[in-house]
Amino acid sequence: MTQRKGPIENHRAVPWAPTEFGLLETFSVMTDPEGTGYVVEGSCPTCGAHLKIDWHFGNPGYKGVTVSPDVVRPKAGPRTINCDCGHDHAGRPGSAYDDGCGASWKVMLP
Ligand SMILES: [Zn+2]
Ligand SMILES: [Zn+2]
Repeated sequence: MTQRKGPIENHRAVPWAPTEFGLLETFSVMTDPEGTGYVVEGSCPTCGAHLKIDWHFGNPGYKGVTVSPDVVRPKAGPRTINCDCGHDHAGRPGSAYDDGCGASWKVMLP
């Protein structure tokens, strides 16, 4: 999901903390060239990690049976992103779902 070879990255090894930032307009959301997903890109507001997420549109299959050949775009509107920088952040609980600093924010889908 996340490519860690961003351009310039100034990662800050801050302690893990669950932090909600709301809508971040510094993140870009673009449709990929094939039109099969979004590319979401920006820097984590807490730890500064450069995150690039290839977000493929789902297909409404059921138990492996494809019911539609069409890709399904998610509804427009805000979606939550969690930091998944892959770096160590002190105090991250083992139960934490994402491998990041605990920050979460929203991006607006077109
Ligand atoms: Zn981080
Ligand atoms: Zn982070």
